[in-house]
Amino acid sequence: MNIVLLGLPGSGKGTQAEMLSKYFNIPHISTGDIFREILNTDSTLSKRIKDYVNNGLLVPDDIVSDIVQKRIEKKDCENGFVLDGFPRNITQAEFFKNYLGFKKKEIDAVIFFELPAEISIKRLSARRHCPKCKRDYNLITQPPKDDELCDVCKLKLVQRNDDKIETVTERINVYEKETEPLVRYYSEKNLLKRVNANQPIEKVFKDTIDLLKNASYN
Ligand code: AMP
Repeated sequence: MNIVLLGLPGSGKGTQAEMLSKYFNIPHISTGDIFREILNTDSTLSKRIKDYVNNGLLVPDDIVSDIVQKRIEKKDCENGFVLDGFPRNITQAEFFKNYLGFKKKEIDAVIFFELPAEISIKRLSARRHCPKCKRDYNLITQPPKDDELCDVCKLKLVQRNDDKIETVTERINVYEKETEPLVRYYSEKNLLKRVNANQPIEKVFKDTIDLLKNASYN
């Protein structure tokens, strides 16, 4: 099953992608996670992408497309994948369509997690993660048991640089300008499935699975 997740930053794509990945036993590919890993290295690529990621801007399409292509060529993607954070604009979507066509594959469904922008802003400002095990928390919807400490490592949770309010506004602007046109793009291809993301995590997941049951399998 080849699944693409669309939605505002903070709409729950990462959480749902993890759950879908376990449910269908396919890898969760997050371009944001890949870029954050690259930023932890001392490489030319890290220097090239740093300002884009830290300021909430899109990394240039040629870099993103190359990274996604290399990741999808790996053996674990043979039976499918859940893409979280890609494509992010029409150019990337067109690249991906051509690439999949060349590989005789196709997207089975695009899940669009709908969420009002003001809720996205609230969620992002409350988002934290453990610097050691990288487990995600949300001080409002998925709080840690103990103050702001990781349940497992007991370390103080931290906020992503780009979840700080100045950058969040920029990310939402970029989403509205660059990514939102993909809703129409995939809807015209009859691939788009809308899910209300302003619900408890388990309910969002159930709605997603119900919709995917009707999508075609590869
Ligand atoms: P995310 O974790 O998906 O919010 O992504 C974090 C950051 O990584 C974004 O704000 C962009 O700077 C970069 N990024 C992730 N995916 C893409 C993409 N498909 N195209 C361009 N930039 C991306």
